[in-house]
Amino acid sequence: MKSTALLLSSIFLATLIYKNYFIAEEISEVPSEVKSKQRVLVAAKKPEISTGKSKPMKKLVISRGRTRQKSQNNSNGLKSAYKKAEDYSFVDGKGNILLEQVLVVGDKVIAHGDVVIGDYKKLKNIIENGGVLKLLRPKLWTNGIIPYTISPELEDMAGTVENALKAFKKIKGLRLRTRTDEENYLLFKLGIQDCYSFLGMQGGEQAISLTPGCREKEIRHEFMHALGFLHEQNREDRDNFVTVLWPNIPDKHHPQFKKIPGEYMYGMNTSFDFNSIMLYPPNSFAIDLNDYTMVTIEGDPYPVNPGNLSPIDLERINTLYPAK
Ligand SMILES: [Zn+2]
Repeated sequence: MKSTALLLSSIFLATLIYKNYFIAEEISEVPSEVKSKQRVLVAAKKPEISTGKSKPMKKLVISRGRTRQKSQNNSNGLKSAYKKAEDYSFVDGKGNILLEQVLVVGDKVIAHGDVVIGDYKKLKNIIENGGVLKLLRPKLWTNGIIPYTISPELEDMAGTVENALKAFKKIKGLRLRTRTDEENYLLFKLGIQDCYSFLGMQGGEQAISLTPGCREKEIRHEFMHALGFLHEQNREDRDNFVTVLWPNIPDKHHPQFKKIPGEYMYGMNTSFDFNSIMLYPPNSFAIDLNDYTMVTIEGDPYPVNPGNLSPIDLERINTLYPAK
């Protein structure tokens, strides 16, 4: 039964995935603790994000003590020097991304399952010799100007992209416009799988990669990454609001639910937002899709965002990109 469920989830899964692209830079000093490296050449499949139409999920009885214990047993192999940072799998307390385990998907390198940190060609050396990258706070789009273009190969989805962007075009501090000759711009293009975006403004051309499974909701979500926002469940204060049910999450997806130091995230001055388009639904990445992976601290699931920017999403955008 379990393998059937896994197979089904793998099939489902291909349609919709959220991935982060972090801005990172190579740092020269490689801690002596970082010796091992592991390259996994198969892209991780993740569970489809439920729209709530699947069969009803049973309610979990949550033992916070148990889930905490499980969490501690799955610290993703961080070396002893980083034990204190075991809750920060993407980075340690200093913003270092350890290249102990990365995925190579196409020509991109993804750390800890979901964090794309750059091009394989550029990072090949450091991956093979062991090393660290430095996470940087995402760069913002200058004056909120975001030129974009839609690749001809994505012609069939152009209407969906434009509809998704309407929500952002209403925001006074953002100036989305069709690119003419601007240097820094977004390119919506056809990807190999799933929906991808870089985090913040990269400089030059940067892609938001889409496949036919990406709907308006996912496009808005990816656009939020491009604006510089990360996932809500990665907030360092999230344990005050949600309980992560680690036993129902495959080890390889644990990083999806780890916390990130606040200084690398925007929006920390607003309260935890259960309505955010950047919050994973309560059964994301579940081993058993009938169970949850994340619930409120009261033990209840929360409604899945239907695809709109929440009031707090809007507030955060307005703060980051104030109207001029
Ligand atoms: Zn995402």
